[in-house]
Amino acid sequence: MTGFLQTANARISVLLMSVLVVAVFAGSADAQQDDTASANKLAAVPVCSNNTGEQVQFNTTDRGRPGLAAGMAIRNGSGIPVVLRSNFGSAPRELQQFIDRHECAHHQTGDVDRPHPPRNGPEHLINEAVSDCVAIRRLRDEEGFGKEAFDKVTAALRADMAKIGFPEISIASRIRNISGCFENPASAGDLIRQVLQERGLPLK
Ligand SMILES: [Zn+2]
Repeated sequence: MTGFLQTANARISVLLMSVLVVAVFAGSADAQQDDTASANKLAAVPVCSNNTGEQVQFNTTDRGRPGLAAGMAIRNGSGIPVVLRSNFGSAPRELQQFIDRHECAHHQTGDVDRPHPPRNGPEHLINEAVSDCVAIRRLRDEEGFGKEAFDKVTAALRADMAKIGFPEISIASRIRNISGCFENPASAGDLIRQVLQERGLPLK
């Protein structure tokens, strides 16, 4: 198994956070609509290329739940790797930045070009935990996020998850994972290299 998930605690943590990751990043069709707070300025997009060196495009979309910022990492109809940014104006800048880098990480680790693992299965949960980890470390190392900005990310995540209806234990578990990554001095690149190596994928 991966060094990232060596301990049983880490595994449990990842499992607990799984469900809410899907909801927050894929949107939620049956959740209540929220028309408030949709006027935040959009954050600048990060540098992002996938593991084979292709440039990733960032596009805005109106799909997803109104009032809930979400992202999606896919190849578009032309085969171009893209991150779809949905309802980003409803999120504070720090959360927008986090979602961009989380979705970018799905391209960086090769997730997008691999067969999609069963939703909420262990493999899917690990992918989500890795993307969260890469995202918060990039914000720390490239954007200078300290405790205050970190708290803005986690507070916004917490609020969105609670809005969707996730239990406190799931919210706390995900934030604990992100916090552990933030406090670990290893870089986003360290983790990406490790994942690619374990998958036998190239890094360009
Ligand atoms: Zn994800």
